[in-house]
Amino acid sequence: MSNQTLQTRDNTRRTFAIISHPDAGKTTITEQLLLFGGVVRQAGTVKARKTGNFAKSDWMEIEQKRGISVTSSVMQFDYGGKRINILDTPGHADFSEDTYRTLMAVDSAVMVIDSAKGIEPQTKKLFQICKMRGIPIFTFMNKLDRDGRDPMDLIDELETVLGVQAYPMNWPIGMGKTLEGIFDRYNHRVELYTHEQKSKMVALDDDNNPVDNPELAEDDQFKETKDSVDLLDMAGNKFDEAKIATGDLTPVFFGSALVNFGVKTFFDAYLKYAPAPSAHKTQEGNVIAPDAQQFSGFVFKIQANMNPNHRDRIAFVRICSGEFEKGMDVNLFRTGKKLRLSNVTEFMANTRENVNTAVAGDIIGLYDTGNFQIGDTIYTGKSPVEFEKLPQFTPELFVRVSAKNVMKQKSFHKGINQLVQEGAVQLYKSTTTNDYVLGAVGQLQFEVFQFRMKNEYNSDVNMEPLGHKIARWVNPDQLDPRMASSRNLLVKDRAGQPLFLFENQFAMRWFKDKYPDVELTAKL
Ligand code: GDP
Repeated sequence: MSNQTLQTRDNTRRTFAIISHPDAGKTTITEQLLLFGGVVRQAGTVKARKTGNFAKSDWMEIEQKRGISVTSSVMQFDYGGKRINILDTPGHADFSEDTYRTLMAVDSAVMVIDSAKGIEPQTKKLFQICKMRGIPIFTFMNKLDRDGRDPMDLIDELETVLGVQAYPMNWPIGMGKTLEGIFDRYNHRVELYTHEQKSKMVALDDDNNPVDNPELAEDDQFKETKDSVDLLDMAGNKFDEAKIATGDLTPVFFGSALVNFGVKTFFDAYLKYAPAPSAHKTQEGNVIAPDAQQFSGFVFKIQANMNPNHRDRIAFVRICSGEFEKGMDVNLFRTGKKLRLSNVTEFMANTRENVNTAVAGDIIGLYDTGNFQIGDTIYTGKSPVEFEKLPQFTPELFVRVSAKNVMKQKSFHKGINQLVQEGAVQLYKSTTTNDYVLGAVGQLQFEVFQFRMKNEYNSDVNMEPLGHKIARWVNPDQLDPRMASSRNLLVKDRAGQPLFLFENQFAMRWFKDKYPDVELTAKL
């Protein structure tokens, strides 16, 4: 295939994640998007999968128990001339380092906020990772059909709590029971809420008055909205494409996913500004363009099969350049090994079908028998490619771990080392007792660890919860072991770097007061 066609095809990919706090409406909005794409015919399909009422996949016990599945990890469909890849970022108890790492594989993010609640903790964490990557972030203020907070407050909160400039693309006319519609600044029209699945559009003249709709022109709520829009026009941020591209300004859309109001308007505008797959930096500082002939990609997530009869796992690969073809040979940078990619899965929303071709921006799932680790680069051709290392995230939850059967230390150590290398959990050692401490971003990581230790390494483990801790690395030159206490445990990471696990903010503040010169650093 010529470079020209490859590039044209690349540019149709739009790969993003929806980030939100649980219950803000991520599943509901995903479902609407799948409806637009014609992938599901009926609302409730994704939801049913989430609650476990959907056809069971034979995939992973823990997944099944929690009602999440591999197929919903990546959803691909066509809409508006684009090929959409939505990557799932699991929340609740499924929140894990994988959730963060998934954000390394997307080109933009959609942030869904419950307009009655505003910014919640998980949204904030995920936002910060997107911000660090400098990718565009689009905001959907959801649940407009319910009474929520004052829109100005919500916008203000984005700017003060998240430190991002906001540009309201539209503004609500009423809310909850009195919801009449939205003033669509971007398309310069009013979108009326009709209580049916289809909105009615009203054109506006240059003075923002409705054309041929005297009733709306005289409506008090509309007048109020018009004043707010005037204020935004005068004193608010300017629409700035360059700032959207770098994630410094977030376009904000109000709407309701549940009643499908404003979702299509949002998605159409989103697709205008959502970036095509971008170039990726290598460890050496080079840049691989998405339209390069050479195939390349990196593993951002490995999902283990919890079924003991199926030891395989799926390595999720984000394609960065070139074209994937089934059965192709690739090099794995870390080991220098050659691998044939024959057993591959593509992610259409409803089925797991084999892929024939995929290009930059697409995600492929490789059945893996233990070849891959998180962060691995695969590539074709003679010139080696190694993409930049994925960042490490500061764990927040900790357990002390030991082998139940002291006679089985060997399999315990083997298992722990392999699983840690794979990136399933972080491993620390106490500096005084040599105890093993595991760190994770979410509880699910421990459960998966325990399950796999038993099933893959025949090692029963004890896990003693240590709860939430604040991990802060410390310069070894400034460290005195006597600084440690029961409220700030001293441990070493895998690289031998010392860090404190503080019991809480209070303990950390106390430490800072006592040792003002000691520098404490967090990872991401
Ligand atoms: P998720 O946890 O972010 O995936 O949230 P869900 O999509 O599962 O939604 C959580 C709850 O909020 C469900 O009961 C939804 O029906 C409800 N919900 C989602 N969007 C809306 C909305 O626009 N309006 C109202 N009133 N409820 C909504």
